[in-house]
Amino acid sequence: MNTLTVQFPWNEWYGFPVAELLVDGRPMADWLEDDNYGIPVWLLKQGLPLWWGVEDDSDEDVRVVTVCSCGEAGCGHSRCRVRVEGNTVIFEDFAGDAARTAPDGLRFVFPRAQYESCCQTMREYHAQCCIGGQDDA
Ligand SMILES: [Zn+2]
Repeated sequence: MNTLTVQFPWNEWYGFPVAELLVDGRPMADWLEDDNYGIPVWLLKQGLPLWWGVEDDSDEDVRVVTVCSCGEAGCGHSRCRVRVEGNTVIFEDFAGDAARTAPDGLRFVFPRAQYESCCQTMREYHAQCCIGGQDDA
């Protein structure tokens, strides 16, 4: 079982915090070797951002886990399938930039409560920083 935490190490990026996922204490971008950064706070309204490619498919839960240093997920990002299994949440099928760089078969398993707590923290940061709904771009 892996450990998932989230930290907000940068506040100076456009004046907004950036959410960095840590797996076993190591930044997600390091695991993926994708040269991306964390996720800008304005994308965190629902916790980890749902990848736009599955927005119309309620059976698919694919979420963005790292974003290009420019802050535009459309410019560069990595994503993975998020699958709930009992009391665990599994991150697998890494794609986007990670398709080129991540080790084959990379897969993480977290306690479900830990994942949900991280998503809650991200939503709280979003609520604090992005008021008024002009923030979903
Ligand atoms: Zn970029």
